[in-house]
Amino acid sequence: MATLAGTWTNWVGNQSCAPAQFAAPASEDEVASLVAEAADRRWTVRVAGAGHSFTPVVATDGLLLDLRGLGGIRSIDGGRRRVVVGPATTIGEFGEPLWAEGLALANQGDIVAQQIAGAISTATHGSGLRLGSFSSTVRRVRVVTAGGDVAEIGESDAGRLHAAQAALGMLGVITEVELEVATAYRLRERVDDWSWDEAWGRFDELAQQHRHYSFFWMPSDDSAALYGLAGDGASLADRCHVKIYDEVDESTPDSAERHRRVGPAHVIYPMVYEPNFHELEYFVPYEQGRNALAAMRELMLARLPASTFPMEVRTVGRDDAFLSHSYGRETVVISVSGMPGIDYDPYLRDVDRLLGEFDARVHWGKLHYLTRAQLLDRYPRANDFIAIRRALDPADTFLNAHLAPLFS
Ligand SMILES: Cc1cc2nc3c(=O)[nH]c(=O)nc-3n(C[C@H](O)[C@H](O)[C@H](O)COP(=O)(O)OP(=O)(O)OC[C@H]3O[C@@H](n4cnc5c(N)ncnc54)[C@H](O)[C@@H]3O)c2cc1C
Repeated sequence: MATLAGTWTNWVGNQSCAPAQFAAPASEDEVASLVAEAADRRWTVRVAGAGHSFTPVVATDGLLLDLRGLGGIRSIDGGRRRVVVGPATTIGEFGEPLWAEGLALANQGDIVAQQIAGAISTATHGSGLRLGSFSSTVRRVRVVTAGGDVAEIGESDAGRLHAAQAALGMLGVITEVELEVATAYRLRERVDDWSWDEAWGRFDELAQQHRHYSFFWMPSDDSAALYGLAGDGASLADRCHVKIYDEVDESTPDSAERHRRVGPAHVIYPMVYEPNFHELEYFVPYEQGRNALAAMRELMLARLPASTFPMEVRTVGRDDAFLSHSYGRETVVISVSGMPGIDYDPYLRDVDRLLGEFDARVHWGKLHYLTRAQLLDRYPRANDFIAIRRALDPADTFLNAHLAPLFS
């Protein structure tokens, strides 16, 4: 086991901490003894995944665990479409091994760098009205709880499973994850630049019709380049960079053509981002999505001309994870960003106020201003989550300063 001194910093550089102890255990037993010792010292215990959250969900001045010694695929069951992995397995590491067994992750988001335990802990998602977040695919986890005991939480224990499916590390340290996966599928990606009216006007029809319908709306000429979306040189101001994915069969040959790619799902999904933004992402009920989008465009154009990052628009299917943005409802996902070094806080607060009027839930890994009262109001099972958390962690070993006001 390596014990390292120093400071932890997230991917984009807006969060850091200096833990009293930084440990990289190589087994579940080591995790258990480290957690038990830290709990005896009344230290806060947190785990760092790949550090791709913008919020202080990892920070601790106590024990910080790096679980990269617990990565990798442990078993694949093709008949049951199940895969068992170590918690630090990255999304990208699922692709080829699952494909070789005729399987694939049911859906993916924009990048593949996240560790699976980090991704499920924040209900990371892709796009698609009938596709839930990563959390919705979790069927079993092993968790080292505050006393250093191991809890195995599976489908026979639905309440605790739905709490563990998106828990921000508050139930304990995840040491194993079992996911339900999909039969392998191939995708055709179509990318086009559309007017707002084309992308927004037919939103419902397109979201219902396609496996994945999403777009980036660009408020100004500068916007596209900020996310590497710049196309053929024409101005994209007030236009939408639209992405549509549909499943295709074996008869459609692979293609790397820029606007019409075809290939295995795990090859088509990922984008590349530079760490040049801080992001906020909120989720509104699907039925209210178009109105929320129109209000956001108006806000950004009329009152926030300095907000040049694109607005990303996606959908997510409903799921059962108590802390999920999509618990019990389909959602439209709206995300906006600010440039590091610029005071974007007033802008993001305006967005928070506006989307609050649409009963918005938040992405736990992206900037948000959720209060405890809003949590209890907007997440129907928040109290159930808090009760399970208190039962598993009565001394609040896994609560840091960011999480305590919401979940203590
Ligand atoms: C460029 C970029 C693109 C992104 N794209 C998307 C996207 O398309 N869709 C989307 O939904 N999100 C997206 N995100 C957000 C990202 O998916 C989440 O913030 C995710 O949680 C990051 O995973 P991670 O491995 O980096 O976890 P971290 O950020 O390191 O940690 C997240 C949480 O998980 C906890 N955790 C990690 N491992 C364990 C464990 N073993 N046991 C218990 N708790 C654990 C941490 O303590 C923390 O609370 C993106 C972020 C970036 C920076």
